[in-house]
This record gives sequence, C-alpha cells and structure tokens, in this order.
Amino acid sequence: METILSLCGIRKQFDGVEVLKGIDLDVRKGEFLTFLGPSGCGKTTTLRIIAGLEAPDTGRVLLNGADVTDLPPNKRNVNTIFQNYALFPHMNVAANIAYPLKLQHRKKPDIQACVADLLDLVQLSGFGGRRPDELSGGQRQRVAIARALAAGGDVLLLDEPLGALDLQLRRQMQRELKALQKRLGRTFLYITHDQEEAINMSDRIAVLHEGRLEQLGTPQEIYDRPKTRFVAGFIGQANLFSAEEAGAFEDGVVRLALDGGVGEALAHDGAHELHACEQVSFCVRSEHIKISETPVPGFSIAATVRDYSYLGGMLRIVLALSDGREILCANRPDGSVLSAGGRVWVFWDPKNAVFLDRPDGAPEIPRKGARA
Ligand code: ATP
Repeated sequence: METILSLCGIRKQFDGVEVLKGIDLDVRKGEFLTFLGPSGCGKTTTLRIIAGLEAPDTGRVLLNGADVTDLPPNKRNVNTIFQNYALFPHMNVAANIAYPLKLQHRKKPDIQACVADLLDLVQLSGFGGRRPDELSGGQRQRVAIARALAAGGDVLLLDEPLGALDLQLRRQMQRELKALQKRLGRTFLYITHDQEEAINMSDRIAVLHEGRLEQLGTPQEIYDRPKTRFVAGFIGQANLFSAEEAGAFEDGVVRLALDGGVGEALAHDGAHELHACEQVSFCVRSEHIKISETPVPGFSIAATVRDYSYLGGMLRIVLALSDGREILCANRPDGSVLSAGGRVWVFWDPKNAVFLDRPDGAPEIPRKGARA
C-alpha cells in the first residue's frame, strides 16, 4: 500500500529531557492511524512535529516522499483539529467553514457549493446561519471537522478531538468520524489515550510509551498479540507471568515453571525459539483464563477465589495464587458454583499465552546467566 507520510528517526528534547526517542513510522494513504498512549508519552509532540509546529532535534518528516522537515506549517499539506475546536466565535457556521476556502482565493459560488456539501457531509445542513455558541459540543466539533476538511490537505491530524464530549456523544461521534473518513478515503492521524476509542476507530494503532513506538499493528494484532509488557497491560486486561522454560510438551507446546513457585503451565512457543532454563515473560488475557475444580494435564496452578462479581453477563473473578499474587479471570458464567475462599485450578489454551519482548526485541527477562 502507498505510503503518504514517513517519520524517520524522530528525536526531540525539552529542557534536556528526551521526550521522543527515535520514532520510525510509515503511514499508509487513506488509513485511519491512531497514536495511543498514556499522558506525557509524546503523542502531541509527534503530531506537532508532523504539522510543522515543532522541529525535531534529529530525524526527518516525509510527505508524499518529499522532505518537509524544514517547511513551515502553511507549506505542508496537512491540517490539524485540536480538542478545543477554535472556531471563530463571531462568524456563523458557514463563514467558519468558508474561511480556509477564501484563503485559497476560491470563487464565491464555488465556496457556497463547497460549504453546502461539507455541511451535508457532517449532517449540519440548515445550521449554516448559526453562531458557534448556538450549537452543542458535538455540533461544534463537526463544524471544526468540516472546516479542516475544507482546508484540504493530504493528512488530517486530530488531537483528542472528542476529548471534551460526554461519553454518549463521544461514542456517536466516533462512529460518525470513522464513517466520514472511510467515505472520503482521506488519511486520518488521530490521537487518544482511550484504548477503546483507538480499537473502535483505527485501521492501525501506534502504541507510544515514554517517547518510543512500542508496537504498531491492527487493533486485533495489538490486542491478541501484544509485544511488550506495557502494551499487554495498557490495552485490555492481561495477566502477566514470568517463568522458566522447563521442557517440551507436545506439538510446539512448552512446559513452563512459573516464578514464585506457583506451579507449571503450558504455552505454545509460536515463533519464539525457547531454550531450556530460559527466562520468559508472557501474558494471558483475563477472558482466556479458565478455572477447573480438578487439575488439567500440563497445568498445576492452584488458586483461591478471592472475589467474584457479575458484570452484564460476564463473571469477573479475582483469584489469588499461592504466592499471594492476584490474577483476573473474565468468563461467561457456566453454572458452576463459586464461593469466596474456594480452591480452584487455573489453566488456559496454550495458544492464548503470548510471549512478550522488550521494546528492543530482546526477551523481557534476560536469559539465565546473561549479564544485565
Ligand atoms: P497528553 O495525552 O497528556 O496530551 P502526550 O502524550 O500528548 O500527553 P506530549 O504533550 O507530547 O504528551 O508531551 C510529552 C512530554 O513532553 C511531556 O513530559 C511534556 O511535559 C513535555 N513537553 C511537551 N511540550 C513541551 C514544551 N513545549 N516544553 C517543555 N516540555 C514539553
């Protein structure tokens, strides 16, 4: 697929602190790509560097193959929508949307037709004469989107554009924005710290953590195959384990001796080449944790039911392992009777245990005997 934007080795310091530590990323034409990460991980700084509002210390920004790193914002074919919509309060909706078209010296009938089309697109036909303060938050945000679309550009940058909206409106706008992006076939670069929003809207997600691109992939890849401890913990509910490889089981499945002496378990080694006595980290999503009243072949993890609650058709069970550590299990109720303090055995399908790497691709826990 065609690449529209590339970030090559982007680094940035503020006051001697490196907040972007070498970001490399190719954005595909027409995709909805989301930067996801906790507050302060460098999302906005990355977007500002793409927009030309901030200069990287090192690294290049390529747009359609051309180096735009040293170009000012108005010379780059990108547009930004911020969380505070920044509409002109004294202009009505139509004038707000027409503003960038006037800057492009378009003819009046052309501008009028274009504004009408955009109002239709964001479902605000009939609202052209209203001032921004006569609109709801969601309507104002749609005007901001229409205005950014009027400004054109190869890539639309959206910095938490739905952050100020209440949850219901936010969900509705997520659907509208995604549908609009698909209809227009434009490239959207979106910022959020909300994992659900990222999963719902994106073609691909770039997970940022402390100035590094931790993982890039489709929502399903990020959820099902997190590469690092951070990604596993940030998206969905994951139980993290450390273990030592204790030998082969069968059909690519390995036996693992879990740290803390909490028992043995099985995992499919997948693409990993594990070696006996190697230290590994892996995660099992809470919905993949299963419990049984009797031990299951290959597993010997005894646990105590610490707490359980029903959450809309799901049973959320907190289990305590023998070393006191808690793990979380989310399952559909199967009719079996649970009691707090009850003893159970924990197991999972070996293919649902996902081995984790450090960001540099090395095993999360160094091999036994290796120097740190
Ligand atoms: P949030 O979700 O809270 O907006 P973010 O992931 O967008 O966070 P950035 O705004 O990119 O994070 O900030 C990354 C780091 O850089 C933070 O520690 C922030 O304090 C720092 N930072 C950003 N801009 C500046 C600046 N102009 N001067 C000094 N430090 C800055």
